[in-house]
Amino acid sequence: MWLILFLLYFSGDMVKPITSSLSINDSAFVCNEKFEDNRQYFYSSHPYTSVSPLPTIYFVTPTYPRREQIAELTRLGQTLMHIPNLHWIVADDFDGCNTFLDYLLNKFGIPYTHIASPMPDIYRSFAPIPRGVANRRAAINWIRNNGKKSGVLYFGDDDNAFDLRLFSEIRSTQRVSMFPVGLIGLYAVSTPIVKQGKVIGFFDSWPANRLWPVDMAGFAVNLEYLALSPNATMPYRAGYEEDEFLKSIGLQMAHIEPKASNCSEILVWHTQTKKEKSAVVRIDSKILESDQTSLGPLLRELEALGVSHISSSSGIKAHVSKNGKTKPLSSVL
Ligand code: UDP
Ligand code: MN
Repeated sequence: MWLILFLLYFSGDMVKPITSSLSINDSAFVCNEKFEDNRQYFYSSHPYTSVSPLPTIYFVTPTYPRREQIAELTRLGQTLMHIPNLHWIVADDFDGCNTFLDYLLNKFGIPYTHIASPMPDIYRSFAPIPRGVANRRAAINWIRNNGKKSGVLYFGDDDNAFDLRLFSEIRSTQRVSMFPVGLIGLYAVSTPIVKQGKVIGFFDSWPANRLWPVDMAGFAVNLEYLALSPNATMPYRAGYEEDEFLKSIGLQMAHIEPKASNCSEILVWHTQTKKEKSAVVRIDSKILESDQTSLGPLLRELEALGVSHISSSSGIKAHVSKNGKTKPLSSVL
């Protein structure tokens, strides 16, 4: 199985370019998409969802290949499995179609679009680099090119943590809704301040002259409202992506709909996963290629997922522990 997926890794079979309205610096491709919802178990236990159709939430997740990627997307996908009428746009910062992502996304049963949206090389040398911007721009273009004018857009990074109540809150967004995000900056929160049901200011420890000092996970946008600004976009400007995107859709203070009990509770957290370099495990190729024990297939799977690498000549030597003693792996074959 891993071999087939590995061989498919760079295949262009499913690649469809997103054609119009991409700027010259962007190159994005739709790798795969599924519009049918394969969560029959879910809808049969929530019959109300089919009685009155809910607006679709377009949940945009930038992601990129690294050791933690599959773990993050597994956790996030299993959150999203609980949410009806959701289309997951997974935009990978990678110059090709990672077949493992499709394999994973198919398992959740959620309708999805898998986009390959590599960051243009020039921005990789910026400090700080504008992370996730090429991905979100590609997702905005996909929404436009597919004529999606009803529903709600939300940017949910792969490493954040989401309370299920967030989704029923943002689904009713008329123009732009806003709500607190936990674990941001020195205040450990970024939030609008609400008085008598209206946003009167913002509480964020990094104001930086921003008109809209909010986090990417702290707002949702109605697609009809977005469509009123056909040139709206997100700039490659680290720290100012939210501010400039919200300026580009012509947001006004009076348009903001506070959510999460008038911004008094946290329904989304800016969790961050500790990043580590991938390990290299040194293992004799005979043991690695053998299916006599579980170890060969397991290490090959981890290699294919980008979690660790295997080598016969370098890295941390593999050995077996048994009865409190360490032995060469060949002793258990
Ligand atoms: N990201 C990306 N390419 C990168 C780095 C990050 O697409 O080179 C994505 C990442 O998967 C996440 C978002 O951009 O969904 C924000 O990145 P990160 O979580 O590292 O930033 P932080 O939350 O720490 O600001
Ligand atoms: Mn993050």
